[in-house]
Amino acid sequence: MSADYDVVIIGGGMVGTTLACALGGSDLKVAVIEARPAEMEWTEDSIGMRCSAITAASQQIFTNLGAWRAMAAMRVSPFREMQVWDGEGNGAVHFDSADIAQDKLGHIVENRVIQAALTKRIDDFDNVVLLCPEMLEDQENSCERIKLTLKERGEITARLVVGADGANSRVRQHAAIETNGWPYNQSGVVTTIRTELPHQETAWQRFMPTGPLAFLPLNNGCCSIVWSTTPAHADELLAMDDEAFMKALSLASEHRLGNVIETGPRGAFPLKRQHAETYIGNHLALIGDAAHAIHPLAGQGVNLGLLDAAALAEVLLDAHAKGKDIGATHVLRRYERWRKGDNLIMMTAMDGFKKLFGSEALPLKWLRNEGLAITDKLPPLKNQIMLHAMGYKGDLPALAR
Ligand SMILES: Cc1cc2nc3c(=O)[nH]c(=O)nc-3n(C[C@H](O)[C@H](O)[C@H](O)COP(=O)(O)OP(=O)(O)OC[C@H]3O[C@@H](n4cnc5c(N)ncnc54)[C@H](O)[C@@H]3O)c2cc1C
Repeated sequence: MSADYDVVIIGGGMVGTTLACALGGSDLKVAVIEARPAEMEWTEDSIGMRCSAITAASQQIFTNLGAWRAMAAMRVSPFREMQVWDGEGNGAVHFDSADIAQDKLGHIVENRVIQAALTKRIDDFDNVVLLCPEMLEDQENSCERIKLTLKERGEITARLVVGADGANSRVRQHAAIETNGWPYNQSGVVTTIRTELPHQETAWQRFMPTGPLAFLPLNNGCCSIVWSTTPAHADELLAMDDEAFMKALSLASEHRLGNVIETGPRGAFPLKRQHAETYIGNHLALIGDAAHAIHPLAGQGVNLGLLDAAALAEVLLDAHAKGKDIGATHVLRRYERWRKGDNLIMMTAMDGFKKLFGSEALPLKWLRNEGLAITDKLPPLKNQIMLHAMGYKGDLPALAR
């Protein structure tokens, strides 16, 4: 392939590789630029530190792209129920997929499983090339094509450059697109653990003033945890020996699954809310965390990014079929209109939850405990929340249906 492409995707993470596969098989010439080679092999008994709750809509995208079967062969873990409770009161809600005639609410999947399956799938498409390891160093916007300077391979050009390069997107910075948002003053501590009692294919989440603690069930009996807490407390949790950490975690989970009896390596990620002022520029579009970063409390971040990728692919393929310029603003505007509003609604809802559950003010404590108790007794409301959490709401791209 020459160094002139129709679409260059910067970032071959879960979202960038999804877009690449969605454009696979078309007559668009596509390149994916990724700095770090994906982990493709591991021992069967090891579990990746980072896992994501994947909605039914995202599963549908992976299925339509021909990647879900490979993920399932590695490991995907269904969860059928969710138990959510307030650590500062007695409010609680129980969600059960059976109530909406579904056999599961979603899957917990290791990020490396998603990444490996999509990276492998890219090989099947003659029109897509993965350049890795490779880094975007510079980007120059001209009228017709964008000139990109890569660290190893020098200059390439694109009719459209897509920033799928995460929350600190270089593409976004080069295009001088501003973001709004704020740090949550929380870090998400992640690891894999085993508990005394079985997890019952249920996701468990306790809300505390310092942040939520989630136990996400894996199909080997373990749980992936995300413990959102103050940065100082996260540092303490990382510095503890395994025994002290397991004791702290057992206590924080109120021993719902008994004691924590095994733990893997720990990591922590700073949490922030960040939203790009615009998702599009001159022959340029942003998707995934490059466009929006949200609190992981409802496990929606990558799911929103996958919908961005599916929507952008649909807009581009439709425009290309009609002979339109895929980098034209009026074409890209359709993508922005489609996704920005939905993403903003989800971000605002996550902020509301975070504020409500982070508050020690008595009226808010009362409100959330009553709110949880009332929600638990209102099946129509609970069913709507479940359908939202499964990604079945909103204007879904064809790949997600
Ligand atoms: C603790 C925690 C738990 C989470 N849990 C969930 C969950 O359960 N469900 C969910 O939906 N979401 C979850 N999220 C959010 C989710 O992890 C992110 O939304 C998702 O990883 C974003 O994917 P992405 O591909 O957009 O960006 P990234 O994963 O950041 O990928 C960007 C890629 O671009 C590459 N890159 C960057 N710069 C360059 C460059 N200059 N040149 C070349 N390559 C470059 C990077 O190497 C990387 O591979 C969680 C987040 C956190 C922090």
